[in-house]
Amino acid sequence: MKESYPFELIALPYEYEALEPYIDAETLHYHHDRHLKTYVDNLNNILKDYPRLHSMNLPTLLVNIEVLPQEIQTAVRNNAGGVFNHNLYFSSMRSPREDNRPKGELAEKIDKAFGSFEGFKKELSQKSAGQFGSGYGWLVTHRDGSLCIMSTPNQNTPIGFGTMPLIPLDVWEHAYYLKYKNLRKEYIEGYFNLINWDHIEDLYKNRGNFFK
Ligand code: MN
Repeated sequence: MKESYPFELIALPYEYEALEPYIDAETLHYHHDRHLKTYVDNLNNILKDYPRLHSMNLPTLLVNIEVLPQEIQTAVRNNAGGVFNHNLYFSSMRSPREDNRPKGELAEKIDKAFGSFEGFKKELSQKSAGQFGSGYGWLVTHRDGSLCIMSTPNQNTPIGFGTMPLIPLDVWEHAYYLKYKNLRKEYIEGYFNLINWDHIEDLYKNRGNFFK
């Protein structure tokens, strides 16, 4: 997978039906094949005439927005953010499991930061449900391994503030409206059954690479 311009549409690491009943195949088709593809195409179009930026990967573009040519800053924030956030989101899920929880060091750090797994779930749910309009709820980590929950509007990302995203909970209506209509909280409840904790634990363990 190429990590710089021209950016490519990632393949889903599962079948379109794999996340049912919590996320239906039709939603996944629209979300991945159309919404994400649009962000990828837009980003490539924006960068086409700026060869100087063609070696930059997504995190580099996103943490350097303020030094990019002014006329493309907003478009890069929206579209590089759109690609980065969605790549994380689609990679953060797998087929549903009962009693879906993290293990090991990450589980301990979650208990420490939020009191318990239930405390973590409640805080991420509330932050995500409470994001006004479109955006994301996030579990993020810092260089020292401490954890924090936050939300961002639009396609903004938490990177650039010494934070590395672990869980990206997409609460744009396009993520859930076909199935859940206005019931964002039910979609969020379903997402917790889909979190690929093995993958999130790997991200957490390897955070040193991100903060290099
Ligand atoms: Mn989305």
